[in-house]
Amino acid sequence: MILIEKLSRVSSEPGVYLMKDAADNIIYVGKARNLKKRLTSYFGISGQFDGKTVALIKQVSDFETIITGTEKEALILESNLIKHHRPRYNVILKDDKRYPSLRLDTKQPYPNLSIVRKTENNGALYFGPFSSAQAVRETLRIINKTFKLRKCKSQTFKNRVRPCLNYQMGLCLAPCCLDVDKSQYNEIVKEVIAFLKGKTPELIRKIKADMTAAAEARDYEAAAVLRDKMYALGKTIEKQISVTTDFKDRDVIGLAKSNEFSIITILFVRGGFILGSRHFRFKETMSTDAEMLGSFIKQYYETSNFVPKEIIVPILPEDSTLISDWLKSIKGTKVNILQPQRGEKALLLKMADQNAENELKEMIISIESDTDLLFRLSKVLQMDKIPRQIECLDNSNISGTEAVAGIVVFKDGKPDKRFYRKYKIKSVVKQNDYAYMAEVLKRRYKKAENSEHFPDLLMVDGGKGQLNIAVSVTKSLGLEDKFEVIGIAKKDEKKGETQDKIYKPGRTNPLNFGREGELLLFLQRVRDEAHRFAISFHRKRRAKKSMASILDTIPGVGKKRKVMLLKHFGSIKKIRAATLDEISAVPGINRTVAQAVQKALKT
Ligand code: SF4
Repeated sequence: MILIEKLSRVSSEPGVYLMKDAADNIIYVGKARNLKKRLTSYFGISGQFDGKTVALIKQVSDFETIITGTEKEALILESNLIKHHRPRYNVILKDDKRYPSLRLDTKQPYPNLSIVRKTENNGALYFGPFSSAQAVRETLRIINKTFKLRKCKSQTFKNRVRPCLNYQMGLCLAPCCLDVDKSQYNEIVKEVIAFLKGKTPELIRKIKADMTAAAEARDYEAAAVLRDKMYALGKTIEKQISVTTDFKDRDVIGLAKSNEFSIITILFVRGGFILGSRHFRFKETMSTDAEMLGSFIKQYYETSNFVPKEIIVPILPEDSTLISDWLKSIKGTKVNILQPQRGEKALLLKMADQNAENELKEMIISIESDTDLLFRLSKVLQMDKIPRQIECLDNSNISGTEAVAGIVVFKDGKPDKRFYRKYKIKSVVKQNDYAYMAEVLKRRYKKAENSEHFPDLLMVDGGKGQLNIAVSVTKSLGLEDKFEVIGIAKKDEKKGETQDKIYKPGRTNPLNFGREGELLLFLQRVRDEAHRFAISFHRKRRAKKSMASILDTIPGVGKKRKVMLLKHFGSIKKIRAATLDEISAVPGINRTVAQAVQKALKT
């Protein structure tokens, strides 16, 4: 009733609206050409929303509006407010670092390629994102084999005194040590860029022309090299699917929805070939399909490395003309957003939709099977709730040195690395696994005392001894009712044991998993992940320490100078990267000592 009354006072100007729930949280932000009309469509009786959206709208207890001068201003304000408030029911692209890209720093005199997870606006060229680490490595492997681009990291390049094996194998011109003509190297860079942009057919035509010219000039050696290169590139094309005859770059967006989830899939078509795809998952959105696509396109291309000239969509997004104009301001040339009805492009759209459907089906099957597994686990462990969040603790040390611990977190049956935690043991001097565990559990759960972020199940690596420690720590913190605790101990083959053992407090014998061996395997997987995580942290700590001790071996570098160097540069890696002048500039380090430091760190 209050909302209906408020609606009558809403302006018909363009602007942004913020919907709030009963607890005053902003749960949705949208923009409208006519605020009154849009909000009436939500709270009136026009019935344009599906049942799920209607249920979400019922959670709205209040709204606010902000009038803007133009629709374009509303578009920008909406995007800023979504980024700031991250409302629960908006389409929000996560900053997903899982997808690697290739970076080519063309500002360097002899650029090289590197795999990165984050793109920056620093003048470098980025290619990707690739669908997986394997896909990016395979592309890099082809480039390294086919083009004589240098393969080493910039740091190695700077410090090299003679060419590496790549030069001897004819895979690099060795600009690290030889006087390589920059324009010759730039030709290689251009070819690599063309390859990464999917312009392989054009590249092959160019190489073929060069090969013919070399043969005519009777330079048969050069012609043979070009022939091999052409053959290698031809092989890569054979593996690609050609989908359009106009050889244009375009992104094709598919959409699939279930009651709870939506999947948006992009097919990347470059030069007429599908070069890859990427899926985006969204849970519970309050938007129509057109709003959802509009919101997705704005967020995706705002940070994307590349905006194609054409974006094909299953339904025209809200404000498609406005979004096209905005994309033009990013790309510098016109960007068409199309909803084709027939021909090659409509077929491509069908392919993108099918891929989105497929991804959605796989996701639902995987969620159902994880939920089922966790439900069965709760039964075997006699828990009164499903262990949707499981945490597992493991220690790592060698005879008590650099003792560390790690806690891994599994949410809904899957590792969630954002919540993994590392601990350096602080209060225990002598090696004592029980004491390490007690310290870490206190640090982890004492902090969380007033928070909701307790796990449903805590696992510790070890048998009854470790379990007793974990139970007594949780009791001392008053958390015994917050979550269940179990211990997982390795089987003792000498005693004829065939399975790892799961201990619960108050039981002498381990639990019997009977036919539920899959559950035990799952718990072992969680334990193994904790083990891997703790060990890798321990290795890193040891490596760092042994690197720092390199400084102890350098003549003229005592404790004081070592501290000065580390304080000035922050790490051995940075000292290694520093020039002689930079090292000599550190107070207390003369040129002779700086030379000794450089020499020691280069070996
Ligand atoms: S030869 Fe030199 S430039 Fe080429 S990869 Fe090896 S170190 Fe780098």
